[in-house]
Amino acid sequence: MTIQLHDTRQGKKVPFEPMQEGKVTMYLCGPTVYNYAHIGNARPAVVFDLLARVLRRRYDLTFARNFTDVDDKINAAAIETGKPIDEITAKYMAAYNEDMAALGVLPPDVEPRATQHIDDMVAMIQSLVDAGHAYEAEGHVLFDVDSYPEYGALSKRDLREMIAGARVEVAPYKKAAHDFVLWKPSTPELPGWESPWGVGRPGWHIECSAMAARHLGDTIDIHAGGQDLVFPHHENELAQSRCAHGGADFARYWVHNGFLSMDHEKMSKSLGNVVLVHDLIKTVPGEVVRMALLSAHYRQPLDWSEETIRSSKRMLDRLYGAVRGIDVSDELRAAAQPPAVLVAALEDDINTPRAMAEFFALAKELNKATDAAEKEQLAGAMYAAGDLMGLLQSDPDEWFAGHVDGELSADDIEALIEKRNAARKEKDFATADGVRDQLAAAGIKIEDGPGGTTWRRDG
Ligand code: AMP
Ligand code: ZN
Repeated sequence: MTIQLHDTRQGKKVPFEPMQEGKVTMYLCGPTVYNYAHIGNARPAVVFDLLARVLRRRYDLTFARNFTDVDDKINAAAIETGKPIDEITAKYMAAYNEDMAALGVLPPDVEPRATQHIDDMVAMIQSLVDAGHAYEAEGHVLFDVDSYPEYGALSKRDLREMIAGARVEVAPYKKAAHDFVLWKPSTPELPGWESPWGVGRPGWHIECSAMAARHLGDTIDIHAGGQDLVFPHHENELAQSRCAHGGADFARYWVHNGFLSMDHEKMSKSLGNVVLVHDLIKTVPGEVVRMALLSAHYRQPLDWSEETIRSSKRMLDRLYGAVRGIDVSDELRAAAQPPAVLVAALEDDINTPRAMAEFFALAKELNKATDAAEKEQLAGAMYAAGDLMGLLQSDPDEWFAGHVDGELSADDIEALIEKRNAARKEKDFATADGVRDQLAAAGIKIEDGPGGTTWRRDG
């Protein structure tokens, strides 16, 4: 089976075939660095990190995720705080990487910064001007949308409808309302670079087109980002990249994650309803946040609440509880593979709910197993599944030492009792006692009677 991906442009799930055999290129629009990332911003980083891990099993992947470190929002933050721009962007780039690392996001292969690619942007804008797809007006350079008849194909927007619906005031130097900025003039207090059109700075869209071309080539395999980027950001990237590269396609597959919301409202800086990853990971293990972000399918909306955190914590307790006390040799660990059904779920358009169900099925099998060799095999498979998904990265004893908090669900408790009874049957008293201690630490009292083991919450 080939990997299946939902391609936004085709509007359906399709088999994924890379352009070049064995090699894949992927670009993810990264953060604009003027603030800490909130958990909505972390969703694309986490889900496309998982896609990257899945792709790497089969292909030689080059994955680029950029930093937008020149932007009017950054300029505004510099004015507001009185701090130099470089200081702001350096601080939030470092914070972003630290926060994402806490969520198990592996570093991408390339992390291009917009300010280090100004020459590429200027060259791309010049080629658009030369080809008649862009024009200069009052120190600005604008993309001439009417010169590209396929505009709207990605976001399925009809330009005429857009024009009719537009009520915004149009800058006088634009030929048409929908033309977008490639380059704009900078006054001395704003960041600016020399260009054929005077001292200025790039527009946001051209940044990604130029960085993607520099690091991945004119045509890339996969372009990823949040759903809110489909229009206008990705539509504009697509238009300008194609026009700058003689019509060559820009991205062969477009993948977009759904929104993360709180109380059914999109989490966003402008609405002010944000939970920063930076704050959250002070009290909640990063793996719990990752589990929560992967619990819903990436294209579905995900509503965030205290309960999302609690249930993700319980799910991880269940996985850690299954492998706890089982020694897996280094050889077995190195050779272990995640279950084929779990890999198949992830290769099916990153179906994480199905993959999680397979993960729990494996944990259940492990809890029931009594043969030591079988237990070691199954625990090895659990760790391999964890490595693929970026979960189970802590030592189980440390996990429980740090995090048991009395919130085990009835299912978790019964799974642990099942595990303890299986261990007792095998006269593996160390495991059995470990489970009893784990339950006790979580405030669960157990009693062995003639009818089996019963449990109750203590206090
Ligand atoms: P920004 O820094 O606002 O450009 O956003 C960085 C990334 O986070 C982009 O890919 C956005 O699409 C994504 N994003 C922003 N808000 C949310 C949200 N509430 N849910 C999911 N993704 C989001
Ligand atoms: Zn972008």
